[in-house]
Amino acid sequence: VKPSYIDISWPLGPDTPSWPGSPGFTAASHLAIGDGDLANATLLTMDAHTGTHVDAPRHFVAKGADLETLGLDPFVGDVYVVDIGTSRAIGPALLDGLALPDQARRLLLQTANSAESHFRRAPFRQDYAALTPEGAQWVVDKGLVLIGIDYLSIELYGDAPTTHRILLEAGVAILEGLDLADVPPGEYTLVCLPLRLLNAEAAPARAILLPKQGS
Ligand SMILES: [Zn+2]
Repeated sequence: VKPSYIDISWPLGPDTPSWPGSPGFTAASHLAIGDGDLANATLLTMDAHTGTHVDAPRHFVAKGADLETLGLDPFVGDVYVVDIGTSRAIGPALLDGLALPDQARRLLLQTANSAESHFRRAPFRQDYAALTPEGAQWVVDKGLVLIGIDYLSIELYGDAPTTHRILLEAGVAILEGLDLADVPPGEYTLVCLPLRLLNAEAAPARAILLPKQGS
């Protein structure tokens, strides 16, 4: 039976790429039946920006809204998945060319990161595709509430954090670390549920796409 959804979350495991300097993701046995414990239990080590995750304004804005203040509205609802092709730096000309409908409020960028499976495995790659600061301003001007990308950052590696700041100062939620490899471009319903961490600038999330009713 074909599932009624597309899972666009990265699996978390030893092969998950992590940002340079991050402790990365580890899952260690905390209790083990094989060792005489009553149950199996796992101890996780990860930072809030591990794998598929969301960024709230507080990530780059000192007193910006945290995840709890942001709520779930940006993360659940109509979304467009668009094919960016092989471009690495995503700017306004490329985004204009998408002819996104005026009512669009959420946008997921399917880039070469998804096309090439090595981007979803360690080691971390610096040559991922992402949004330029001008592209971020385009997102704000378009009135989007969420922008998503298929690698660990919405911003090009080594850039000053201008892309993040433009988006987060305008209150645009960011969804990073998506797997869009098997997603036909088009309109979907996004269901992305970040962990309800308090006072958090980010949180890991599970994200799925549901086909639009009637399509
Ligand atoms: Zn992040």
